[in-house]
Amino acid sequence: MTDKGSSIDTKLIHAGEPNPRIKGAVSMPIFQSSNFEYEGETSYDSIRYIRLNNTPNHVALHQKLAAISGAEAALVTSSGMSAITTALLTFLKSGDHIMAHNTLYGGTADYVVHDLPEYGIEFDFFDALNSEDWESKLKSNTKVIYVETITNPLMDVAKLDAVVQFAKKHNLVSMIDNTFASPLLFSPIKNGFDISLHSATKYLNGHSDIVAGAIMGSQAHISQVNSKLNHLGGSLDPNACFLLHRGMKTMSLRMERQCENAMEIAHFLENHPKITQVNYPGLKSSKSYENAKEFLCGFGAMISFELEGDVEAADAFIQRLKFAINAASLGGVETLVTRPVQTSHSLMSTLEREKAGISDTLIRYSVGIESANDLIADLKQALG
Ligand SMILES: *Cc1c(COP(=O)(O)O)cnc(C)c1O
Repeated sequence: MTDKGSSIDTKLIHAGEPNPRIKGAVSMPIFQSSNFEYEGETSYDSIRYIRLNNTPNHVALHQKLAAISGAEAALVTSSGMSAITTALLTFLKSGDHIMAHNTLYGGTADYVVHDLPEYGIEFDFFDALNSEDWESKLKSNTKVIYVETITNPLMDVAKLDAVVQFAKKHNLVSMIDNTFASPLLFSPIKNGFDISLHSATKYLNGHSDIVAGAIMGSQAHISQVNSKLNHLGGSLDPNACFLLHRGMKTMSLRMERQCENAMEIAHFLENHPKITQVNYPGLKSSKSYENAKEFLCGFGAMISFELEGDVEAADAFIQRLKFAINAASLGGVETLVTRPVQTSHSLMSTLEREKAGISDTLIRYSVGIESANDLIADLKQALG
């Protein structure tokens, strides 16, 4: 593995780049070829073919992702959901049981609840913020424990070290969806998780122009996932590989600005008389502040909040925002705003949402790289 430089900032630029450069190209060229001449490959997984995720564009990305994650190996996939479902199906089979975080990304929660039982895989949700809940959810057939670094949309951070210890004690494969933190704010592999999962659609790419996923782990684990991925077919197209590769080079700068902006905006919101609640792990008022400080290298760029009034008032506020685009998804250079009940959490029943503490009026704000002053002025006029 090309592992140049010691800091992630340097690795984002230099790690995994072909050596020597291909025809001297400074930027990794796109290999728009589905198949390649036979060169004596000895296994199915090594035949060079786009679906097998091993063209030069894939190889460079895998090495860069592994290097920035402190992992032995990495894989890119056609979407975040492809990364998640492929990893779950690699380590779970009929008769197994999974313990899953009770505030999962909507698509993942729906997959666990509706699809896994069809394959004979049982599940239980557990409260990751309360470790007393964990032993009672453990079964003799539990194989996987699955959590998210920063939860959506309330931005909570669990005792991540305790999750790893619990997994090791009970011989479970530990998986974490690290999308909201990105490899810059939390390093699952260095902290003992077995599998780190990302929707690369978000901070890794950062430009709201592709969907992609990433999986990091030990060589042994990633080889297993790779075989499953080759069967399920969730390969990333070389053009999307190119865009992800380019996007990743600026992730460190983007993330730094986004986290700074988010902290300023969270403070502004917290002090505004019309705002009744702000959820951001960087605020001392957050119940996740201590955990976030202990485990993360920054507090992220996702905020959720509530203002006085009803759903109509929340929607009118969103309408009045000039910079923040009313759209789902997150992690791009542009600031986005959404009401989760209308978008990301619309699959949940009212009862499930009430139990999870997600109100109809909650607003989620994905902070971009614009000037914090402009974003705050925009929020101010929309609140006024
Ligand atoms: C977006 C997202 C996903 C799904 O990723 P896609 O790239 O849309 O398939 C999974 N987990 C989290 C936390 C996400 O934000």
